[in-house]
Amino acid sequence: MSERKVRVRFAPSPTGYPHIGNIRTALFNWLFARHSGGSFIVRIEDTDVTRKVEGAVDAILDSLEWLEIDWDEGPRVGGKYGPYFQSQRLDIYKETAQLLLTEDRAYRCYCSSEQLAQMRAEMAERKESMRSYDRRCRNLSQEEQDKLEAQDITPVVRFKTPLEGQTSFNDLIKGEVTFDNSTLDDFVLLKSDGYPTYHLANIVDDHLMQISHVLRADEWLSSTPRHILLYDALGYEPPLFAHLPMILGSDRSKLSKRHGATSITEYRRQGYLPQAMMNFLALLGWSLDDKTEIFSKEELVQQFSIERVSKTAAIFNREKLEWINGFYIRKDAIVEVPPAEGYATGLAPKVSTDFVDRLLESLDNDLPPEVRRPTKEYVEQIAPLIVERLKTLKEAADLFDFFFLDELVYDADLLLGKKLTKEAAVAALEAALQRLTALSVDWDGIGRDEKKVAEDAQLLEGVLRPLAAELGLKTGEFFGLLRVATTGHTAAPPLFQTMAVVGKDRCLRHIKLALDRLRGKA
Ligand code: GLU
Repeated sequence: MSERKVRVRFAPSPTGYPHIGNIRTALFNWLFARHSGGSFIVRIEDTDVTRKVEGAVDAILDSLEWLEIDWDEGPRVGGKYGPYFQSQRLDIYKETAQLLLTEDRAYRCYCSSEQLAQMRAEMAERKESMRSYDRRCRNLSQEEQDKLEAQDITPVVRFKTPLEGQTSFNDLIKGEVTFDNSTLDDFVLLKSDGYPTYHLANIVDDHLMQISHVLRADEWLSSTPRHILLYDALGYEPPLFAHLPMILGSDRSKLSKRHGATSITEYRRQGYLPQAMMNFLALLGWSLDDKTEIFSKEELVQQFSIERVSKTAAIFNREKLEWINGFYIRKDAIVEVPPAEGYATGLAPKVSTDFVDRLLESLDNDLPPEVRRPTKEYVEQIAPLIVERLKTLKEAADLFDFFFLDELVYDADLLLGKKLTKEAAVAALEAALQRLTALSVDWDGIGRDEKKVAEDAQLLEGVLRPLAAELGLKTGEFFGLLRVATTGHTAAPPLFQTMAVVGKDRCLRHIKLALDRLRGKA
């Protein structure tokens, strides 16, 4: 085939919210276009009126915009390019169907849905399940046709699939693929409602829009021989095809919600970052060298190639997505890391104001309604402590709830950990309470910078570390107890910084409550 300028398209059907696989297809097309200096087109294939889902087009376009997957042309809508809509191009498909009829490459079929259902059942019985139509209208005489027309039956138009021979094409990922024509039906081109089927509209538009490469999901592979036959019947040059590997869940079954996969819109709502999502999607079936996992958008554009798309299925790994997201959260948010010894003196990384704003927004949305909304000042204190522990912004409200709650909820057994007895834990918390109450300074996170928080943390450590030895407890045990008492969790940011930010009043209240819970324990 001649060298053509790269022109690719993303052609979603608005039959549902865009899932991981849909947007992976969009991304691979977009990366291929950007890598090769070609054009990327979005075409909404909305010809199946019965399966149209309200809001799906917006969800698809929003997802693309969120990921900054931009397209290069289309009808102008309010100063920007809108996507193409097949529903606005119905005449073109009708004309093409007419052309195929005239050239005897297609025929009108008058079978009713009941007849078709019966036919399917009979063919299944004869184990001819590969096909579902017995071609009974293929050779109707003009007279027979006129009779049926007179009965007011609106026919569909079917393609005259060659009865013999094979159809082959060279898939850029799978290599040579061959289908026996005898396994293909006389598929419908134009439905009785005047709408084209996917096959007809898809190839007409790929031709008219001069699409050079079709990169699409593996599930469309069996449609490709039909398309090749149609291109041939119309005398069009077919594009090159690349069928992208399937995406499976971790148990190698078809990807579904069960594997933690949801619509792109939902990931966005859950606080995933667009650059993390793009990075993750790119690795679903493509790799540079089997080890590099982090790619900026620019690196992806620079490195992407169809040759490096894998033949075998990609596995969706939610933990990997979380890890990548955590990476981008830190990359965006951390402006300055403290020197190595800084961590030891209670210093935390400096974070960007943008991160603080986004965290504040996410907390506003996600904290339970009964919890008082934190101020920006307070979130500025928290952000450096949690930035290295977040996989999504959304989980902050849950993982770090102790920064916001006046009363912590946890099981009293958590206080004892593996080793402590109830008596030892009570004695330890009483001692801690007494020492902390006696401290002349009031500490709390409000209005303090990282230095002040670090100073307070050191002060607390100065009081509490020696206490462990006095109580005859290992520091790990004692600090573990204090951590649960002041946060309700066994894992939290560094204890003393956390206590410094939570503030004196609340820490003392939490410890008293922990004592009550221990004493009340059977
Ligand atoms: N409309 C089809 C879809 O929903 C397009 C398949 C193709 O790219 O040809 O995915």
